[in-house]
Amino acid sequence: MIDFTRFNTVIEMTDYFVTEEKCRQAIAEARWADGVVVCPYCGGVHCKMGKDGRYLCKDCRDKFSVTVGTMFANTKISLRKWFLAMYYVSSHKKGVSSCLIMRDCGVSQKTAWFMLHKIRGLYGQADDNSLSGTVEMDEMYLGGREINKHESKKTPNNQGRSTKTKTPIFGMIERGGNVVAMKVENTQGRTLMPIVSQFVESGATTYTDEANMYNKLGEIGYIHQFVNHSQREYVRPCDIHTNSIEGFWAHFKRVIFCTYHMVSKDYLQRYIDEQVYRWNTRKQSASQRFADMFKKAVKRFDYTDVLSLSSVVSIEHFREYRTMYYNLWKSTHCA
Ligand SMILES: [Zn+2]
Repeated sequence: MIDFTRFNTVIEMTDYFVTEEKCRQAIAEARWADGVVVCPYCGGVHCKMGKDGRYLCKDCRDKFSVTVGTMFANTKISLRKWFLAMYYVSSHKKGVSSCLIMRDCGVSQKTAWFMLHKIRGLYGQADDNSLSGTVEMDEMYLGGREINKHESKKTPNNQGRSTKTKTPIFGMIERGGNVVAMKVENTQGRTLMPIVSQFVESGATTYTDEANMYNKLGEIGYIHQFVNHSQREYVRPCDIHTNSIEGFWAHFKRVIFCTYHMVSKDYLQRYIDEQVYRWNTRKQSASQRFADMFKKAVKRFDYTDVLSLSSVVSIEHFREYRTMYYNLWKSTHCA
């Protein structure tokens, strides 16, 4: 099996994946680690490769390619280009823009944008990503500055800065550990407290700024300390500060301003997920991240998952559960 962690540079990676065949081989090895090709439609193990490079299942007589059910399914873009784009995303700490992928991979900007979003789709934050110990919390607002807006688009009654038209993002970071961040409707206590309860272990120590919405942290089972930023107080004795989460925001803002320039509200969560993933894997090398990303890209629903959900369990009805399987796969890969 290919050891992805040995690709420490782009050159080492492109030198290895010189042909499409090599890429397909890598996907096959990652999917079927024990070398037994399993039919994605019926789970049969009697599959044979045909002359066209596709497999024929002897049980259900259906044909399938190695990419079916993976992130690369039905793609018309060469796998080498996909691998290169994935390597860029995993190795560049400030992300890569679609224009860069367009030039380096020789695809249109639209295609590059689509590729990058598919790759970002691999990152969704896990719901069970729980934080404990000392957790810092803070919110930030993303959106254009009032001073740069056209008269007709300015927010009325603002004094130079306004958060009314900006999108709030809420973040929590465990000291020396992981970060969880998400786009939120608003930054009211009743919106944020359920999120805190979901991700932060009860009894943890929480540090915030002086904002009102954090007042209830003590009531819902956390030890709460704060620093008063409006009084220019940034650190209290015993390391009470929110500098770690501020550091994450600073990095996130630089990525948005310097690499992506503009992100739409609709896709903002994906950019947040990308940066959260990067932060949480900051101790890994680019090659480790590439290996992890590849594993996620070829991960697919096992046919048994579909069978267990389906009332149709006989092989004669495989087309029905194939549709079901596609829908399941779509809901995880294309959402
Ligand atoms: Zn089959």
